[in-house]
Amino acid sequence: MPSVSLQNVTKIYGQDTVALDDVSFEIDAGEFVVVLGPSGAGKSTLLRILNGLTPPTEGTVEIGGNPVSNAGSEVGMVFQMHYLIESMSAYRNALTGSLGRTNDLRSVLTLNDGDDKREALRALDTVGLLQEAEQRAGSMSGGQKQRVGIARALVQNPALLLADEPVSSLDPKAARDVMSYMKQAARERELTTLASLHQVNIAREFGDRFIGIRDGSVVFDGSRDDLSMEV
Ligand code: ADP
Ligand code: ADP
Repeated sequence: MPSVSLQNVTKIYGQDTVALDDVSFEIDAGEFVVVLGPSGAGKSTLLRILNGLTPPTEGTVEIGGNPVSNAGSEVGMVFQMHYLIESMSAYRNALTGSLGRTNDLRSVLTLNDGDDKREALRALDTVGLLQEAEQRAGSMSGGQKQRVGIARALVQNPALLLADEPVSSLDPKAARDVMSYMKQAARERELTTLASLHQVNIAREFGDRFIGIRDGSVVFDGSRDDLSMEV
């Protein structure tokens, strides 16, 4: 059974904005897939559909054999704008991953360490921030913030890690740093990963499989060697 399966997925916003047009592909467990494409191609829409944040207009989406709406905490998400709570420590931000999808801010404020403490510290260790656990997120560098964002997603113990342009606001060195921690986390925890990127050099360095999207359609799906011939 594939880890991710999209069949004939189309997304139309409003009357006629076709963001995805009959997209089908499967991803096996443990694959590290990079989605490439220019702005407006449909990358964010694809990730939001996989995360259950947006319903497709047509088609079916399954994560681990289940319809995406039931996948729940199976999916961890890393965002371009980290969405950390800047006044809280890296540790407490990571711990919020244990809340899963709740949008109830009060549960963030009353969050107990409990059994999740070990998981939060383990996740910070995975992204190389154990020493910085008590540091305020707002005082951290852009790259460190994204690594905390990865830790928060890991605390959910997801089967699928989604990352929407996770390094596009970073300089190339910080971007490589964040991507190598993400790759290492995926390898350690045997996570299926799908990250959208627009920097081809960074994509080439870290991806194992590349899905190219343009105008809502898959125009490329191949390995690094295939990509080298294409670009
Ligand atoms: P990318 O992430 O590759 O930049 P998006 O998925 O954000 O692409 O956008 C694909 C297309 O869908 C674009 O034409 C964009 O303007 C449109 N779009 C995205 N989100 C919405 C929305 N919420 N409402 C209407 N149109 C949208
Ligand atoms: P990205 O390229 O990373 O998707 P965008 O600037 O295209 O970023 O989109 C940012 C937000 O605006 C998203 O939540 C998207 O759904 C929304 N959006 C994008 N295009 C449109 C649109 N044409 N109409 C309404 N909302 C849109």
